[in-house]
Amino acid sequence: MQDNIFDMITVNDIDFKGKKALIRVDFNVPLDADFNVTDDTRIRAAKPTILKILEDGGSCVLMSHLGRPKNKESEFSLQHLVKSVSNILGVQVKFVDDCIGPKVTEAVSDLKFGEILLLENLRFYEEETKGDRDFAEKLSKFGDVYVNDAFGTAHRAHASTAIIADFFPENKCFGLLLASEIENVKKVLENSEKPVTAIIGGAKVSSKITIIENILDKIDHLIIGGGMAFTFIKAQGGKIGNSLVEEDKQELALEILEEAKKKNVIVHLPVDAVIADNFSETANTKISSIKNIPNGWMGLDVGPRTNEIFGDVLAESKTILWNGPVGVFEMDKFAEGTKILGQNIAKATQNGAFSLVGGGDSVAAVHKFNLTDKVSYVSTGGGAMLEMLEGKTLPGIKALLQ
Ligand code: AMP
Repeated sequence: MQDNIFDMITVNDIDFKGKKALIRVDFNVPLDADFNVTDDTRIRAAKPTILKILEDGGSCVLMSHLGRPKNKESEFSLQHLVKSVSNILGVQVKFVDDCIGPKVTEAVSDLKFGEILLLENLRFYEEETKGDRDFAEKLSKFGDVYVNDAFGTAHRAHASTAIIADFFPENKCFGLLLASEIENVKKVLENSEKPVTAIIGGAKVSSKITIIENILDKIDHLIIGGGMAFTFIKAQGGKIGNSLVEEDKQELALEILEEAKKKNVIVHLPVDAVIADNFSETANTKISSIKNIPNGWMGLDVGPRTNEIFGDVLAESKTILWNGPVGVFEMDKFAEGTKILGQNIAKATQNGAFSLVGGGDSVAAVHKFNLTDKVSYVSTGGGAMLEMLEGKTLPGIKALLQ
């Protein structure tokens, strides 16, 4: 990460007494058919920032997007979140059914210190995702200080996540969630205690290659699992049957192995697999050597010997990064490897290792296997975490540092 987080000013560095904070939060949460919030993790994650500002004696104007509306459809209204946000924060949240315009100006000016106002979905205006400057300027009128706490959208150069910061040259800061996401990646990639182990799994080599390239200098062990492992196995001459493979990435796979060797990174590929005769929960299954999978069969999870080997590596690790499942964990029949891996990470954490779970499906896996509280940190941002691990400077972070 190139961002110098020592320059990071957070809400803890500012006294909000008598100030209105305009906070970009990420309340893009899943809703059921009755518009109840089914996973409120992201709302809870914004709570420390909001409460700090209220406790100082300030007020909060919250702005967020929800889903991908095309035409201000009511199903994407942030009105649906008012009850959950109020319950979680312990304060009755006010709502205004627009995010710019006279109605909002009035609601903001009526807002008293200690109060919270939630604006309507930012993406009801296409100017938001286009990063429109005029739109950002209109939003900027609703606060004295701009706070970005929306890690989930920090990789987007949208009006409310990046462009708006220009209108607060002296009065902008990191929310506590955004700051802690950055600090936790730093713990893995910069200030890490050795040995450092990265587990990279998931479907495809192509979507993880930039991460692997970026972290090779910083790790001691690289565990590769999931569908992407088969491209490596095939490239090494193994027979992988009908397992997932990216034929055109075999050369790249060998280059990664070569590069890892040069950098003294020990790569651990699966040695056995749970193979299935089709991609389904009702498939016939058996255990096979990873290098000798018969035609008509595909590897959908790592096997028992691999679980032991990966477990031994994790038991010795002091810093662990996990991105991507090692099998098709959505189906119970192929979830064992990912579950055991998660449990071994939890065990290592209990014994003093620092563990970060980041990016999409591995986060879903820790929730599924009830390991959320047993690892050191679970990221709230899928794409944003991936880009940070890839070594990219996120526009939302850059805008606050400039
Ligand atoms: P990604 O989004 O790249 O992290 O990939 C996650 C997906 O990879 C999950 O939906 C898994 O079901 C899938 N996956 C993991 N292992 C395998 C495998 N052996 N074969 C096919 N898909 C897999």
